[in-house]
Amino acid sequence: MRLETCIRKGLRLKSHRVQQVREELDRLVAEIEWIPGRTLICSNCSRRTARIHARQVQREWRDLSVRDRPLVLRYAPVRVRCPVCGPRVEHLPWAHKWQRITKALAGVIARLSRQLSRKETAAAYVLMQQIRLRAAGTALATAQVTTLRERLLKMAAWVQRSVRRIVIHFPVNYPWLDCWKHIAQATFVTS
Ligand SMILES: [Zn+2]
Repeated sequence: MRLETCIRKGLRLKSHRVQQVREELDRLVAEIEWIPGRTLICSNCSRRTARIHARQVQREWRDLSVRDRPLVLRYAPVRVRCPVCGPRVEHLPWAHKWQRITKALAGVIARLSRQLSRKETAAAYVLMQQIRLRAAGTALATAQVTTLRERLLKMAAWVQRSVRRIVIHFPVNYPWLDCWKHIAQATFVTS
């Protein structure tokens, strides 16, 4: 089966199709298109309509990886002309409103975090205690575990993996970078 067909079936697309899958840097990008004439669903009232008001700018949703390569869906959502609500963004079958990841990927993350909460709570506890110890002398020296988690663990970062090392790219204005580095150097081997 072609990858395009495989993705279309996986996402259960009825009014959209996968135009093509392209390689971009280390990612696979599936370009999704609305099939003209097919009805779309109003995201406000769930009524179907084939009347189009406008197109939005292209957006991307991160999906499950394909053979270890990140798969991204790219699509310009349609603003439908709903007979009841007027111009509204269409309901997208693959993602919840405002989410930048697909339902499939969100499901996997939720399952993993449930497993983590059962099996690795103790390990997570030990890690947090270690981080607290190593935070001595930093701006986070007296921070509670919840604060440490918020500032050191719960942030978006781009993780680049190679055979020899893992490189973490932080957001440009990440305010706790110095603390993070200090604690990481005290806890793990980092450069
Ligand atoms: Zn509507």
